[in-house]
Amino acid sequence: MFLERIPAGIYAVNCYVLGDKATNEAIVVDPGGDVDRIIKLLEDNNLKLRYIILTHAHVDHIGGVQELRDRTGIPVYMHKADLYMLMDGRANQSVALGGPVVEAEADKLVKFVEDGDILELGELELFIIHTPGHTEGGISIQVGDFIFTGDTLFAGSIGRSDLEGGNEEKLMDSLKNKLFVLNEDLKVLPGHGPATTIGIEKATNPYVG
Ligand SMILES: [Zn+2]
Ligand SMILES: [Zn+2]
Repeated sequence: MFLERIPAGIYAVNCYVLGDKATNEAIVVDPGGDVDRIIKLLEDNNLKLRYIILTHAHVDHIGGVQELRDRTGIPVYMHKADLYMLMDGRANQSVALGGPVVEAEADKLVKFVEDGDILELGELELFIIHTPGHTEGGISIQVGDFIFTGDTLFAGSIGRSDLEGGNEEKLMDSLKNKLFVLNEDLKVLPGHGPATTIGIEKATNPYVG
């Protein structure tokens, strides 16, 4: 498995490129910007982009999504409940944060996934887990020994529930009943900050009682 993290865009979100070694098919998770660098990384490693996946549609995670999909022709996979944010600079916080307003098109290159869906990537399987609470359409993606958690779970912290789409009860439910029930050895790759594991967070995360 090929895995690399790029601090992408003006908000330096963790954008991940993951590839299947057998087939060289790859995914890009949360292209916040720096599309040239993402495409070069794919090319340098002989990877064929198969899916662009959004953990959710806040601006820091989507700043490069329109450019990446337009340049590659590869669809964007996301949960439907966050679609309005993808298209609306107020909802995705890009207006409030004062940077460039980000509004992407919703057309045939936007596809929806929901809880329980499995996307195939060469010999790998991507398990989609709906983890609402930071946003209504937040998802986590488990593949192999890894799980991408977006802004739902961080090393030693959790996502905010006071931004657009947030709901504290749902966030706690997602953390306790969707993420903390998974294999403790799973390596957590969050949208911001360093990696961790489900086991470490279950034992030490101060925000999940
Ligand atoms: Zn967010
Ligand atoms: Zn974020």
